[in-house]
Amino acid sequence: MAIYNTPSDAANTAVRSFLTSVGEHYLGRSFNTGTGYGKFLWLKICEEFGNACAYCEQPALLQIEHLLMFNRTEYGLHHPGNIVPVCKACNKRSRNEDKTYVSWNVHLSQVCAGQAPEIVERRHAKILEHMQRYEYPNLNEQERHAIRVIAEALYENIKAESEKSLAMYRKLDQAFVRKGSGPAA
Ligand SMILES: [Zn+2]
Repeated sequence: MAIYNTPSDAANTAVRSFLTSVGEHYLGRSFNTGTGYGKFLWLKICEEFGNACAYCEQPALLQIEHLLMFNRTEYGLHHPGNIVPVCKACNKRSRNEDKTYVSWNVHLSQVCAGQAPEIVERRHAKILEHMQRYEYPNLNEQERHAIRVIAEALYENIKAESEKSLAMYRKLDQAFVRKGSGPAA
């Protein structure tokens, strides 16, 4: 849980919640990696990657990585085909010049810098095989566009609502709270 929460944080959370719902729509069931069947699947995926990081192959405390990022830029769905285990160090991507994050395959080649090409190729193939095995939905251009439009609208609406809430509080504070009660004790 974040300590400092901005309207953008609330809006981003709403977008992730939407991407979770769409992922579950394609999966046909809920996918909570913290409990029950979702947790079972997550542990199974970790095992398939040898309980090691999908990018650097170090055995470590593993975190969930969404290959197609779980945000307004890549619109990755929360779906077993889109998650792999990674170590803490690999769970941070560099950014492109336009400030967006690099894609998972660029990130993989950066993590593997200096390693033999066949090692990079093997890890790349393993991740692709994972996406296919778990049938990550192959969305067409219209579907991707629809997700993008809805996510953008959701983001802007939630951000605007958060900002409106502060404006409303300021108004109420002036109209009622300050007026009747005199100087604060
Ligand atoms: Zn790693």
